[in-house]
Amino acid sequence: MSAGRAIRMVVVGSLNMDLCVRVPRLPEPGETVAGRSLERSPGGKGANQAVAASRLGASASLVGSVGTDSFGTELTRGLTAEGVDVAAVTYSATAPTGVAMIIVEASGENMITLAPGANGELRPADLAGLGPMLADADALLLQLEIPLATVRAAARTARDHGVPVILNAAPLPLVDAELLDLLHLTDLLVVNETEAAGLTGLDRADPAATAVALRRLGPPEVVLTLGAQGAVAADAAGVHQVPPFAVDAVDAVGAGDAFCAELVLARAGCDTPGALAAATGRACAAGALATTRPGAQTAAPWRAEVDRLLAEQRGVGSHAR
Ligand code: ADP
Repeated sequence: MSAGRAIRMVVVGSLNMDLCVRVPRLPEPGETVAGRSLERSPGGKGANQAVAASRLGASASLVGSVGTDSFGTELTRGLTAEGVDVAAVTYSATAPTGVAMIIVEASGENMITLAPGANGELRPADLAGLGPMLADADALLLQLEIPLATVRAAARTARDHGVPVILNAAPLPLVDAELLDLLHLTDLLVVNETEAAGLTGLDRADPAATAVALRRLGPPEVVLTLGAQGAVAADAAGVHQVPPFAVDAVDAVGAGDAFCAELVLARAGCDTPGALAAATGRACAAGALATTRPGAQTAAPWRAEVDRLLAEQRGVGSHAR
């Protein structure tokens, strides 16, 4: 990375339209429960992380796929308005835009069904433009809402270009040889407790031991997110517990995505010892801020907010990155 310019982040991942109905209680199978009016909001982990990265100060580009329908147009327009480069988002001739159907009851409990649509059609062959995009990139950020073969192809391309690969292994699919191979192409792995348990077979009792076990799967750097408990980072120097920030949380949706975006940004901007632990601290601030607002993309914090929270609760100056 050259000094003085924004960190360039390429995200290869999903775009979804989230359709949500709030109901007094979740329906039983076969039952109809009337709810409030339909709420529509942009989502998909790839798009969420690209928007968060842009708000946090990165120059963010998204590689993904939508359908030739109004949701696809709405999503790409929204991303452009957020400053995300969508030139490499393709329009599938065969599949509609991905949709998440969400039902939320008054208690906050929810049910979600996902129709991946065009996200499931993003093939390794669609990554032809990725190499040139990575030529001057600082990081490639990946999640698992698109076909695993495509994620692996993207990671290999980044390796070929000497660009660090950051994998947010969410949602976690069946752990098979393909996924384990991807972990060996990963420089920094980010997972929550559920994904970590799925990858290691360990329970949640000892996050530090889990983070160490995750490193043995291949990635030299691992960050395990612990919700309201903060996060644990592990690298060659050891394990670092990173405490949470105290905020009035209203909705945890989007916390993990904001966390990943800031982690990648802060890590890419610093290569000194302790860089991972410091970046995880900034990421915890971004994740905490995202819980103070509803929604996924809409909840993503701006860089100035992260700087302010760090200054307020950790006494860290605004040039810490
Ligand atoms: P995911 O949404 O992917 O399951 P987590 O729930 O672990 O991820 O949240 C990601 C990060 O966001 C956490 O590591 C933490 O730093 C921050 N975070 C989440 N919930 C809270 C909360 N209630 N208070 C403070 N920080 C939070």
